Amino acid sequence: MNSTSLFYLIGFILIAKFAIDTVLDYLNAKKFKDPIPMELADVYDEAAYSKSQLYKRTNYSFGLLSSLFSLLLTLGFLWFGGFEWVDTFVRGFATEPITMALLFFGLIILGSDLIMLPFSYYRTFVIEEKFGFNKSSRKLFFLDKIKGWGMLAVLGGGMLAGIIWFFEWAGTSFWLYAWGLIALFSIVMNLFYSRLIVPLFNKQTPLEDGPLKDKIQGYARKVGFELKNIFVIDGSKRTTKANAYFSGFGKEKRVTLYDTLISELNENEIVAVLAHEVGHYKKNHIVVNLTTSILVTGITLYLLSLFVNNPEVAMAIGVKIPSFHAALIGFGILYSPISELTGLAMNYLSRKFEYEADNYAKETYEATPLISSLKKLSRNSLSNLTPHPAYVFMHYSHPPLIDRVRNLRA
Ligand SMILES: [Zn+2]
Repeated sequence: MNSTSLFYLIGFILIAKFAIDTVLDYLNAKKFKDPIPMELADVYDEAAYSKSQLYKRTNYSFGLLSSLFSLLLTLGFLWFGGFEWVDTFVRGFATEPITMALLFFGLIILGSDLIMLPFSYYRTFVIEEKFGFNKSSRKLFFLDKIKGWGMLAVLGGGMLAGIIWFFEWAGTSFWLYAWGLIALFSIVMNLFYSRLIVPLFNKQTPLEDGPLKDKIQGYARKVGFELKNIFVIDGSKRTTKANAYFSGFGKEKRVTLYDTLISELNENEIVAVLAHEVGHYKKNHIVVNLTTSILVTGITLYLLSLFVNNPEVAMAIGVKIPSFHAALIGFGILYSPISELTGLAMNYLSRKFEYEADNYAKETYEATPLISSLKKLSRNSLSNLTPHPAYVFMHYSHPPLIDRVRNLRA
């Protein structure tokens, strides 16, 4: 294929993705008014239900507008030679491949993030604010943005520099070394995420002694799970939405509970949520997920190595002088249909794991408090109780509430 056909193929891929997503959103929106299944009748009272419907509709139109804007922006950038312009600009400052790539990606990512900034600002301070979810201040919002960019510059920039260094040094077999680097990075992140990254954004404090901690530790002893690290995170400084998650493995494993979760749920419900998280660990989901994503990365890098030296791939995004960084963007878009498919498979696996973790909580603790906690969390986030099956299949990493409740009651 020559670069002109590849150029049109890239345009086609971007438009096709937008079209598929829009159709799915539309199908999902058509079910917003569906009657709520009987088992979930107690989630919302009438006022909360109409509020949740308004929230769904607001997010639907806002999502449509922002994805249309983002599509037009990308297509316009491609059509009017934006990548070539940035490439020429960067070549005026640097000749060395690593510096060029860092500047190139830095400008493109920062530029597109700044252009999309009004959208994320509107989401937080207009939509989330209107529905009573937002707790973030403007200062915190912009501080988060700046910290996010700093983190991306250090971690993303460091990885990119490493990968290009391997490419300069080893040619197309760079992919093996790059794979090793990314795999190591993923493992370190998984182990130390809570220690290294979370403190930049949140405060974590060990769960204080008291009846809740006794109850949690009583449960952990019963199932033979060594649990030293239970932390409470101040999620309430940004949102009223509640969450809990598990991270790390071996000695580094820890459970993190949002302060909003603790204030929302009773003790039995919190232990049930924790039992679900322990289920993820006991059923090896953490290790399986990590291994799968490392394998997928390896395959992706191998495919990249087959195309990276092909000048047509760089020229497909309108860049005249072939380079690693231009080829990386061209490859990234051409490969995106495949990464959509691997994403689908990962979502499927994740939903399967959610059932397994629910079943574990049911077997080792109790189904009833888990059901009531899931219902409370759904009400608390005004979540959609009647999603379209096709939308669930494509986008949901967790099964819909109704399926989880039915499974827990079975
Ligand atoms: Zn889970």
